[in-house]
Amino acid sequence: MIPPIASNFVAGETPEAALEHVERLNDRGVAGILNLLGEHYEERPPADADADAYVDLVEMIAERDVDSCVSVKSSQIGLDIGDHVFEENLARIVEAANDGDGDGTFVWIDMEDHETTDVTLDAFERHAVETDGNVGVCVQANLKRTREDLERLADLPGKVRLVKGAYDEPAELSYKKKARVDESYRDCLAYMFEAFDDGVAVGSHDPAMIEYAADLYDEYGTPYEVQMLTGVRESAQFDLAADPDVDAEVYQYIPYGSKWFSYFYRRIRERKSNALFALRAIVGR
Ligand code: FAD
Repeated sequence: MIPPIASNFVAGETPEAALEHVERLNDRGVAGILNLLGEHYEERPPADADADAYVDLVEMIAERDVDSCVSVKSSQIGLDIGDHVFEENLARIVEAANDGDGDGTFVWIDMEDHETTDVTLDAFERHAVETDGNVGVCVQANLKRTREDLERLADLPGKVRLVKGAYDEPAELSYKKKARVDESYRDCLAYMFEAFDDGVAVGSHDPAMIEYAADLYDEYGTPYEVQMLTGVRESAQFDLAADPDVDAEVYQYIPYGSKWFSYFYRRIRERKSNALFALRAIVGR
């Protein structure tokens, strides 16, 4: 069982618990992005099993008629084993989401470290064209290549989520200083609002970036969405969803599953306020 302190960041161990979490969010105007926790499998059985779990999940989303999509990691469905394993499993998930009983459930592909960028963008491109835009991909503002990648993505159907980037990348390929990453985020976001017809997703908790996106929306009118994580600035998520002056859709990225511990540990390590929150919960104050 997930201890109460960790359940702030993870919706539960089962798809049922995660879907109940989505229902509660939907009641408050926030849509879900469900992510089954798991990554870097070195053998095929767990990668295939997680792909099977996503196939089941997209069907459950359609059956329960909740407002949610899914987000998968390439190394979770086989990239470390071989490109073909990732591609086969992704194709199964996208097919189930679109042609099977998934009823058009949207599929996001998360972005992992820089060595996976090309294969992930290539897979996105194929499925974006085949499904006429019912898939999305994440790109990272800390990578120097991203601004150019966006020019390729602008011509494709589908959505693109811009994040700052969670991986410690080599200095020759990435911006290291926070201020430089923020500048790159702004540049990329401005380009997306200008060049994309739709499908701009702001994957950030940063109030300055969310405000900047609202300004760009006023300028270009490009539809957009704001995506944040479970347990991070949740009151801001609900406030944005309820604000009649904000035209963005609001999504919560919802991790769930039995592999919750390492994810929870990462959230606690990355931010002092999360660590203090954990400490207060443990000492009961
Ligand atoms: P930061 O630059 O970390 O912080 C900026 C400001 O945001 C802070 O000053 C504060 O005001 C506010 N803030 C941030 N965190 C908190 C908090 N915990 N509590 C309160 N305020 C806070 N990375 C990838 O590399 N690949 C992915 O596929 C990917 N997918 C993501 C999907 C979503 C929906 C989100 C939200 C993030 C994703 N990330 C991904 C992670 C991302 O790259 C960043 O590491 C992470 O979001 C931190 O950057 P930030 O823009 O949220 O804000």
